Amino acid sequence: MTAKILGIIGGGQLGMMLTEAAKAMPDHISKVIVLDPTRDCPAARAGAEQIVGDFKDKNSIVELSMQSDIITYEIESGNSEVLESLKAPVSVNPSPATLRTIQDKYSQKEFLRQNGIPVPDFLAIESLADLKKKIPSLGYPVLLKARRDAYDGRGNFKINSESMIEHAYKLFEGRPMMIEKWVDFRSEVSVIAARNTVGQIATYPVVENIHRENILEITIAPARVPPHVAKEADEIARKTMEVLHGAGVFGIEMFVTRDDRVMINEIAPRVHNSGHHTLQSSDTSQFEQHLRAILGLPLGSTNLRHHAVMRNILGPSDFVGKYKPIALEQERGVYLKMYNKDEAKPQRKLGHINIVDLDDTRDIEELMRKAEDVRNRIKFESP
Ligand code: ATP
Ligand code: MG
Repeated sequence: MTAKILGIIGGGQLGMMLTEAAKAMPDHISKVIVLDPTRDCPAARAGAEQIVGDFKDKNSIVELSMQSDIITYEIESGNSEVLESLKAPVSVNPSPATLRTIQDKYSQKEFLRQNGIPVPDFLAIESLADLKKKIPSLGYPVLLKARRDAYDGRGNFKINSESMIEHAYKLFEGRPMMIEKWVDFRSEVSVIAARNTVGQIATYPVVENIHRENILEITIAPARVPPHVAKEADEIARKTMEVLHGAGVFGIEMFVTRDDRVMINEIAPRVHNSGHHTLQSSDTSQFEQHLRAILGLPLGSTNLRHHAVMRNILGPSDFVGKYKPIALEQERGVYLKMYNKDEAKPQRKLGHINIVDLDDTRDIEELMRKAEDVRNRIKFESP
C-alpha cells in the first residue's frame, strides 16, 4: 500500500493529535492537510499543511479533496452536502451519510430509537405553540435542544415550568429544535468505539465523565460502575457501531440512570475528549485507532494498561488573551498536553493533563486529587 495524503476538516486540538498520530505512521500516511479558518491552527503547528478556510466553505472543501486521498473530520458541523458530492478517488470517513444522520440530534435519536437502542424520550418541535402543546407529554423538567450546531451545552436550555417556555423558545428561534425528557442520571459515561472500513469493531473500556457548566472537566478510566453496567454500555456501543456503518472512531456519550439503566445521550462521529486518556493509558491511542479505521487497517488493541484520570485545562474565567507558555516539572505518571492555542478565553479547551496509574494502585480518588493538584499548579499569566 502506498502512503496516503490525509485531509482533515478542522485543525483544532483533535486535528492536532490526529496529525501527531499520522506522523508516527509514515508507511501509511505521507502528509496531513487540514482545513481550518484560524491561521497557524494547533494541527498546523503540529506539522500539518493548512488550507485557511471555513469548515463549511464549498471551495475550500473541494480544494482539500483535490489534494487528499482520504478525508476525515474533527468536527461534526462540517458540510455533509459538499462532502457527499465529492467524487472518487477521494474517500470520506466516517461517510457523509453517517455524518448527516448524526449532525441533527433529532435524526440521530430517531435512528437510534428505530434500531432499538435506548435514548431518553424526545419530540421534534415545530413552533412555540407546538412546544407548549408537547411538553406535558414528557413532563417537567424538559431540555429544549437546538438540533444542529450545538456544543458545550450551548444549544440546550432546561425548562422547569410553564413560565419559562417563551423565554426558552426565543433563545433558539429560527433554528430547528427538539425537546427531551430530563434524565436524572447517576453518572455520565462514554465508550470510544471504532469500526474500520471492512467492518471490524473495537470498543475501549467505558469511562466516566464529569462535566462542569456543561463542559467536560474530568474523565475517569475505567468508569466507577458495576460490571453489569459496564457490560451494558459496551453492548450499546457495539450495537450502535453495527447499525451506524460509519468507519472511524466515535465517541458515544451515555447516561447511567439511578436504577442502573444505560441510554445514549449523543454520538460524536469523531475522536472524543473522553478518549484523550488513551494517549498514555492504552495499547492504542484513539487517534491512531481512528487512522487505522479509516485506512482499513486492522484495529489496534483497546486494552487499558493502567487506570487513568484526564483533567481538561480550560481557560480561567478571569483571563483573556495571550499567555506565557505553560510547563510542568517532569513527574512520573503525569502527562501535560497543551494545544498551542494563542489566546485563552474563559472555558476554552487549552490543554489536558493525563494522570496515569503506572504503579497500578487503582486508587481513583488519589488520581483525581493529583489531577486537581496539578491543574492548580498551572497559572495563566500575560507574557
Ligand atoms: P457537548 O459539546 O459537550 O457534547 P452538546 O452541546 O452537544 O454538548 P449535549 O451532549 O446534548 O450537548 O448535552 C450536554 C450535557 O447536558 C450532557 O453531557 C448532560 O450533562 C446534559 N444533558 C443533555 N441531555 C440531557 C437530558 N436529557 N437530561 C439531563 N441532562 C442532559
Ligand atoms: Mg454532548
